[in-house]
Amino acid sequence: MELEGPKLATEHLKEENVFIDEIVTDRHVQIQKCIRENLLGTKHSYDVWHVAKGIKKKLTALSKQKDCEVVGKWVKSISNYVYWSAASTSDGDQETLLAKWLSLSSNIQNIHHCHCPKFPNCLHGDLESREWLKSGTKACAKVEDVITNTRLCNDIGKLSTGPQTSEMEAYHSVLNHFAPKMHSYRYHGQLCREDLERVESDAPSTLSTPAPPFLNSGKRRPCKDETSKTLSRYTKQ
Ligand SMILES: [Zn+2]
Repeated sequence: MELEGPKLATEHLKEENVFIDEIVTDRHVQIQKCIRENLLGTKHSYDVWHVAKGIKKKLTALSKQKDCEVVGKWVKSISNYVYWSAASTSDGDQETLLAKWLSLSSNIQNIHHCHCPKFPNCLHGDLESREWLKSGTKACAKVEDVITNTRLCNDIGKLSTGPQTSEMEAYHSVLNHFAPKMHSYRYHGQLCREDLERVESDAPSTLSTPAPPFLNSGKRRPCKDETSKTLSRYTKQ
């Protein structure tokens, strides 16, 4: 199902002769393959929130290991660093993005200069005191392993520095009221519910009748675009 949506959407756009410059998704392996094979010439970028979430999960698990408890204090900063790396590389240059990310290995050890030619020195000012990781310790070595993981480094270079998937997820969260995931619908049933959602979104006042019984409630959940907010926060700095 995860793959069926992008397949149908890209086939439809192809039929309409619409060329896709860039597509932003999570790191779903089947979607990567589908885009690689069917959308030649289209840049495939990854949503920052999804990549940061994966890193957070790994570091949180690591912080529960013996002698690695200190890693727990770095989870939030390292996750923020993913957002900063993307937001501060507005031209989307993959090498610069990756260089910034890899400089994190030095940053966590309180080293802020002489990283590499693409990103020689940190851009921040003085930092408050914190529990820096010490070279040679198990915690430091394990965090470095996470940072320099080959698959992660490939994905970091492909982070989207512009659009994110959060807008689409906000739309899905509204759509959930009309077509709850706990039920399965036939193709046309799903299509009708999506049309109904669009009618309601475009002209809510036209729905003067009570909400139909398949709706969970007459109220919308607030849709937060957290990733875009976070990125713009870093861009302003
Ligand atoms: Zn630094």
